[in-house]
Amino acid sequence: MSNQIQLEIVTPDRKVLSEKVDYVGAPGIVGEFGVLPNHIPFLSALGIGNLYYKLGGKTHYVFIAGGFAEVGPDRVTVLAEIAERAAEIDVERARKARERAESRLQKRAEDVNFARAQASLQRSMARMRCRSSAEGSGTCSL
Ligand code: ATP
Repeated sequence: MSNQIQLEIVTPDRKVLSEKVDYVGAPGIVGEFGVLPNHIPFLSALGIGNLYYKLGGKTHYVFIAGGFAEVGPDRVTVLAEIAERAAEIDVERARKARERAESRLQKRAEDVNFARAQASLQRSMARMRCRSSAEGSGTCSL
């Protein structure tokens, strides 16, 4: 029996993280799920939100947008469409993306793709939450 979990996060472009951790919380498409060592195996689609993992009493945050997580007794493998560690997030860029998305959603113009604007708004807000959680000034909402 292992008392840690090997967490791997990869995107189509790169390996984002490979680390032994104590706990993983992830934004499943139907809600957050948590994984401790020796969890039963399962597969989940991921939504837009923040994955977090605990290691030695510290919590670390990773922004995720879409993909899958495969959970095994001593391993969590995340294949994400987009993933960024909190420190990699450009907060100013996320703020501008939120402003653009909000103004598109307010316009109600025919040429606005609402689903696209809503997804962009969700990504930008999750990115800002990820950073504020990492800086300890936010609540740990996924
Ligand atoms: P933007 O309109 O600013 O591009 P977006 O939400 O449309 O934001 P995405 O489609 O989610 O952008 O991401 C496109 C690429 O840009 C990805 O590789 C992603 O990691 C990167 N990226 C987007 N926004 C940020 C950010 N705020 N900080 C760091 N990387 C970002």
